[in-house]
Amino acid sequence: MIWPNSKIQLYHWHLRRAVETKLKDTHLPKRDNYEPMAANHKFPFIDIEFNPSNTIYKSTKFCPKEFRSHIWNLMNKHLHQHPLIPDISQQNLTADIIRKQAVLEMYTFCKENSLVWVWSYMWREWYSKDRWVLWARSAFNTLSILKTTMFVEGHWKVLKRDFLYKFFRPRLDLLVYILLEKLIPHQQRKFEQQLSGREMLDWRKSIKSEWKKLSQKQPEINNFSKYCTSIENWVCGCPYYLTNRFMLCKHLVNLKGPVDPSLFKILKRNNQYPFLILDRSPMHAPVHKRNNTYSENNTHSDRNTNRNETSNTDIFENLIDITQQTLNLLEEQKQSRNVLWAQGVERNFNQIKTMVNEINQYKHRRTMPRTWKDHTHNTRFLK
Ligand SMILES: [Zn+2]
Repeated sequence: MIWPNSKIQLYHWHLRRAVETKLKDTHLPKRDNYEPMAANHKFPFIDIEFNPSNTIYKSTKFCPKEFRSHIWNLMNKHLHQHPLIPDISQQNLTADIIRKQAVLEMYTFCKENSLVWVWSYMWREWYSKDRWVLWARSAFNTLSILKTTMFVEGHWKVLKRDFLYKFFRPRLDLLVYILLEKLIPHQQRKFEQQLSGREMLDWRKSIKSEWKKLSQKQPEINNFSKYCTSIENWVCGCPYYLTNRFMLCKHLVNLKGPVDPSLFKILKRNNQYPFLILDRSPMHAPVHKRNNTYSENNTHSDRNTNRNETSNTDIFENLIDITQQTLNLLEEQKQSRNVLWAQGVERNFNQIKTMVNEINQYKHRRTMPRTWKDHTHNTRFLK
């Protein structure tokens, strides 16, 4: 294999079409290869009596209309869940637990509604181990930022419609000539235009309008800790974030606060934390620098440590002093009901809001962070 670590992921749209077409089909299969014993061996909660060969289920239909959309929604959720995305119930789940819960959820829904044929189909085609890896994101450590094969299909479309439109079954030498002399220079020109910023990539335009839409929504303040929203890792446990193409939600956009439009020219998507990189510099660089300083100080002489402690105290004095002055100003302007002033300076408090939210969320978490990466700069040295 040329790329041993590559992940083959079914195109989301094809998956949806395949499942929805199957659920709409009212014909019952003549033969069913479902093996209840094998399924039960893998997950003991699967009842071996719940199978299409059992005469109790003889008169059941494949999938009545009212259940179809819920089944797809369940599958769509299972497709997107991933150990790097927090879960409302248990924070970050392992890949094994995600699969077990997904199987349990799909099985329970089928069992409670006597959808014996759907269950057989789901297990054989999607939830058994060898099928699961073809479509569930959790089967791979990092997250693919692409859910479509649109890029490959777009490439064929340009080649066929723009360069080979006169030729039906062109000779191979003609095809090679067109690829080398026409298509590649064309793509190179486009690429250079995009690099120079003369042309904005389509996904950048889309993420900008999505961001704008979400920034107009006001999230409930309690939900930041409920969903473990982390601006530094750019991750949120809310259902909207889970299936969003750009890994955006109102919680993250709101926590980030107002942004400069030039952000959309430089931001990058990432297949691990942080899922969105919002500046040109590496996201964790300043934090690492501070870590190094911290450990160096630990190995230095007592004299250095003392000097360090003195400067730390200075830091507190300064921060307390400026906060006190800010509080006085706020009280003073509040007395004179100066709302305009407050609106003007509100964005200065965004970073402080982020810090307080992250610390509250950190204090309420149920599991201890395992690595430096689970922290943000606001919680890393918190006692
Ligand atoms: Zn969210």
